[in-house]
Amino acid sequence: MQSLLISLSKTAQVMPSSKETGVHSVFRILFIECMQEISSFNPVLSSYDKFRIDRGNSMLQQRGLNTAVGGALQVLEAASDVVVVPGFGARSDSAGPLAADSWARLSSDILKVVDQNAAEIDGVYLSVHGAMGAENELDPEGYLAAEIRKRIGPDKPMVMSLDLHGILTARMIEATNGFAIYYTYPHHDFADTGARAARLLLKLLRERTATNVVRVTIPALVRGHELITETGIYGRFLDECKALEDSGEALAAGLMIGNPFTDVPELCSQVVVVTDRDPAAATAFAEKLAAKFWANRDIMQAHMTSLEDAIAGANAATGSVLFSDAADAPSSGSSGDSNLLIKGLRDAGFTKSVLAQIVDPAAAAAAHRAGVGATIEVDLGGALDRKRFTPMRVSARVKLLSDGKSRLETMKISLDAGPTAVLTFENFTVVVFSQSVSLFDRAMYYSNGIDPVEYDVIVLKSPHAEHHMYDAWVEKNYVVDVAGSTSANLPTLGHTVAARPMFPLDLGVTYAPKAQIYRSTLTPDANRDGAAA
Ligand SMILES: [Zn+2]
Repeated sequence: MQSLLISLSKTAQVMPSSKETGVHSVFRILFIECMQEISSFNPVLSSYDKFRIDRGNSMLQQRGLNTAVGGALQVLEAASDVVVVPGFGARSDSAGPLAADSWARLSSDILKVVDQNAAEIDGVYLSVHGAMGAENELDPEGYLAAEIRKRIGPDKPMVMSLDLHGILTARMIEATNGFAIYYTYPHHDFADTGARAARLLLKLLRERTATNVVRVTIPALVRGHELITETGIYGRFLDECKALEDSGEALAAGLMIGNPFTDVPELCSQVVVVTDRDPAAATAFAEKLAAKFWANRDIMQAHMTSLEDAIAGANAATGSVLFSDAADAPSSGSSGDSNLLIKGLRDAGFTKSVLAQIVDPAAAAAAHRAGVGATIEVDLGGALDRKRFTPMRVSARVKLLSDGKSRLETMKISLDAGPTAVLTFENFTVVVFSQSVSLFDRAMYYSNGIDPVEYDVIVLKSPHAEHHMYDAWVEKNYVVDVAGSTSANLPTLGHTVAARPMFPLDLGVTYAPKAQIYRSTLTPDANRDGAAA
């Protein structure tokens, strides 16, 4: 923090404060980032160590990256009346719930930075995912937003960027002045969303706009291919939100579907609109869209194939097929140690080539101890989620060893799976990681010397990947119905916390859309005293 405080005080000397000039010549905007998505059904707690922490200026390393912070930086650093105050950034791969002591440490680290800067800043940009969950706090982002609000007072605008899989809670809405939400899935508009949030924040800072947030919750959880925004019906719903935002009738509009694996009280799907106009039009829009979403809930479910049928399909195929193991998708918060697909293929006597990935720290360590070329006897899988998976004994050759470091193809952010090994046995090639990382692209295959196109069956531990990565060239993509803490077979998961009834967890759910309206105002005069408050 030392260097940040020094650089801030220098900035303050150069820039006349609003008190001196009587008009607001410069807005200081504090950047706070706290991102993680969890599955409540993953038995492995995550910890502080899983986060990449950026204090002060090291947040600026996201300049030019396709991340929300990267996009917000691009807009705000280009504005002549803004000084960016990089505060604290924490981002983690998806995982199990955050351990209580880790959440205590993380939230206190963040709020300390807010305390240090609260008096000097004029607004806050808060980059969150929205689907965090800690052992002792089921609405971490709401807690943070409320605690930041307490510290900065009522008159400094705070705007969030959110993932469409986030759970936007009443507490989050009440503590902030607006937000921007992703429009794409598989996601690629990270920077664009950060930029939209930043432009909204600028408008609020310059014009002191009063806003209404219109929120219509929908008791439905959805999965499946209709959620792919380029081709699916969910994309058409988001088009309507985008059109409303682009027309200027709304400052922001979105349709969030939550992360169905984050079992928290306000888990739901919801239409949300931020407007600076009379909320009647936004209310009509949101209620109508919510009704349309509800009417289409049945088709927005995953079309899954039994393992037996998927194997039969792979046997009959003339080209490569993809086995999507959405049930064990680390990017949705699972443990990554499911061996159900490779075990099923092996038990069925499948003989074509199979490529897969798995988290198994002991097997990776054994391979590193033995060295390249060695043959080792190891248990593969079932290392973490022991209730769902059982270890599978293999005699494998260590084909390659690596440090497990890579970079996501889309966002170019770093991945660290720890010591990693490529093991081969029979017709199987399996990349074994020491810890889970997002596996929704090809990064961890490429960085371990493997090209998926060379295999007959490729296991993807994700519900989806960008089209060109697999779907463009595989003969068939089977979403295989097997157990896992992120299974698209939602009723099998065992939600206990989310508000009920909820489709498709409960039968016979009825619904009539009803908007809630949250109003936020900014005192016009606060402008003059803001920076020196
Ligand atoms: Zn997401």
